[in-house]
Amino acid sequence: MKNVKYLECVNCGKHYAPEKGRYTCDVCGPSLGILDVIYDYEYIKTKVSKESLKNNKNYDMWRYEPFMAVEEDGPKGKLRVGWSPLYKADGLAKEIGLDTLYVKDDGINPTSSLKDRASAIAVAKALEEKAEVICCSSTGNAASSTAGNAASVGIKSVIFVPGRAPQGKVAQLKIFGANVMSVQGSYEETFKLSAEAIEKYGWYNRNAAVNPYCVEGKKTVSIETCEQMNWEVPDWIVFSVGDGCTIAGAYKGYVDLYEAGFIDKLPRVAGIQAEGCAPLAHAWMEKREWKPEEENTLADSIAVGVPRNAVKALRAVEKSNGVWETVTDEEIMDAMRFMGKHAGVFGEPAGSAGMAGLRKLVAKGVIKKHESVVCAVTGNGLKDVVHAIEAAGEPIKVEPTSEGLAKAMKEIGY
Ligand SMILES: *Cc1c(COP(=O)(O)O)cnc(C)c1O
Ligand SMILES: [Zn+2]
Repeated sequence: MKNVKYLECVNCGKHYAPEKGRYTCDVCGPSLGILDVIYDYEYIKTKVSKESLKNNKNYDMWRYEPFMAVEEDGPKGKLRVGWSPLYKADGLAKEIGLDTLYVKDDGINPTSSLKDRASAIAVAKALEEKAEVICCSSTGNAASSTAGNAASVGIKSVIFVPGRAPQGKVAQLKIFGANVMSVQGSYEETFKLSAEAIEKYGWYNRNAAVNPYCVEGKKTVSIETCEQMNWEVPDWIVFSVGDGCTIAGAYKGYVDLYEAGFIDKLPRVAGIQAEGCAPLAHAWMEKREWKPEEENTLADSIAVGVPRNAVKALRAVEKSNGVWETVTDEEIMDAMRFMGKHAGVFGEPAGSAGMAGLRKLVAKGVIKKHESVVCAVTGNGLKDVVHAIEAAGEPIKVEPTSEGLAKAMKEIGY
C-alpha cells in the first residue's frame, strides 16, 4: 500500500505499520486506542485527479481506490457499492426554509445502507489476508452488509446482533447465509461478546472503529457527493451518529480531497443523535467528557450507548466548527414522513434522523437559509417496516362496492 504512510493512534499518537492483524494501539488498548490511516497525498495525486475521474467509467466506490488503504488492484467483493443518487431536493428545501438542499440517498446500496461502503473494504481486506471467516457485531446494518458482501465472494460470516434488531435486517442476514447470534442484551454486551469470540477463534474483525479501514470506506460517501456536485463543497453536511464511524468518515472524505488539492475549503459537520441515546451530543452541549447512556430510541442503528469511535466523531465536528443536535423519536418519525412526501426518499428511523436534526437546526437559525446543505439518508425505510407503518399509519379500508368507493373517496376529499 504505497498510498499509506502509517496508522496513528487517536489517543496517544503512536505509529504502527498497516500489517495483517493490526487493529488497535497496544499501549492504549482496544477501547481507547483506535487507529487512523495516515496517507501519502503526494503519492495519491499521482494516481487520481479530477481529469482521470472524468474518464473513469467505473461507477462504484472503487473509482476512489487511490484514497483507500487496500492493495493496488487487489481482490474485491462482487457487489456494486456506492455511486448512490444525490438529489437536489427543492421541495424539501422550500418546506424547511433553505435555498439549497441535497439529499444523498445511501439506502440505494446493495444491502440498503451506507454500511456497505465499510463492509466492501472489510471484505477486500479479508480477501487480502485470505481470511475464511469474517465477524462483526452490529445494531443490524453493518451486520447485513458484512454478510452480503462476504457472501458475494464465498467468505463465511458470523454475526452478533442485539435481540432488538429489526426483523428485516435479521432476515437479510439469514438470507445471506450468515451464522447469526442474536444476543439477548444491549448493543454494548453484543459488541463485547463478539470481541471475545474473535479473540478466541481468530476471525477477521469488522467491528466498528476497532477495524481502522471501515471508516476509510465510509468516506467515499463524501468524495462521491463532492464529485456529483462538480467538486463544489457544501456549507454543511448532516449525518446521524451512533458509533461515530460514519460521521468521522464523511468528514475525512473532504479532508482527503482538500489534502490532495481537489477542493480549497471544508464543510461544517452537523452530528445528529437520538435524544434517548446521545452520549456525544450531550457531552458537546454540556461541555464535558462523554459518558455511556442507555439505548432508549426506536432508531436502532444509532442506539449506541457506548460509541466505539467517539474520539474521531467528536474531532470531526470540532475541527469543522460544526454542531451536535438531538432529536426525539417523534421528530424522527415525522421527518420520515416529511422526506418521503416531499422528496420521494424513504429512510429507516436512523436514516431519517439527519433530516429531523436538519429541520431543527434551520428552525433554530444555526444553519442559515442561504447556506447549502447535504443531508445523508443512511439506510432504507424497508429495513424496518414495523416503525415505518407506525410513522405512516394504515391505509383506508375500502368495501369492494361502488358505495364503498364513494365513502372512501370522501375521506380523501373527493
Ligand atoms: C450505522 C448507521 C448510522 C450511524 O453510523 P455510526 O458509524 O454508527 O455512527 C446511521 N444510520 C444508519 C442507517 C446506520 O446503519
Ligand atoms: Zn495509543
